[in-house]
Amino acid sequence: MGSIATEIILCHKCQLWKTRKNAVPGEGSSESQIMFIGEAPGYWEDVKGKPFVGAAGKFLDTLLSEAGLSRENVFIGNVLKCRPPRNREPSADEIKTCTPYLNRQIQVIQPRIMVTLGNHSTAYIFSKTALPFNSITRVHGKFYETSILSLNVTVFPTFHPAAALYHPKYKEQLISDFHALKNKLVEKALF
Ligand code: URA
Repeated sequence: MGSIATEIILCHKCQLWKTRKNAVPGEGSSESQIMFIGEAPGYWEDVKGKPFVGAAGKFLDTLLSEAGLSRENVFIGNVLKCRPPRNREPSADEIKTCTPYLNRQIQVIQPRIMVTLGNHSTAYIFSKTALPFNSITRVHGKFYETSILSLNVTVFPTFHPAAALYHPKYKEQLISDFHALKNKLVEKALF
């Protein structure tokens, strides 16, 4: 995992290296059975080189504890490893260029559960399966038993924690999704 992180830190494969302060390879335990996948670093992640350290990250910490988890016993990564300027949406080209890193992280970690946070990460992970993806609203809170990169895995899509900062209804849905996640972890004996 360390060598993937070093490659990401030195990466010049797309133009985002020109505007980044730091690449954000991801963080947590590479032994973990649970992987969280966000969209891309924002302002504070770019400053600190760590995932989910801004306002959305604080709420993610709350959600993790609702599920009985902490940052130390999961892995948290993103679809893009560098911040798009002004937090614009990742482009299709950037996703195509950057996701080989995420694929390699998945192959090293071999998680049993992948929690996709928001539209972009859910769309990308679903694209690696035979599952159809329309919108996060339709698929969130459900467990999908599937295969990704020859790995049998449960995919659990939910909203991006940042959505809850602007819309209270997403906050409630996220909390309820993370309670469902906790039950699944108990059922699969992943605690
Ligand atoms: N939003 C994301 O999708 N990822 C981060 O790391 C931070 C905010």
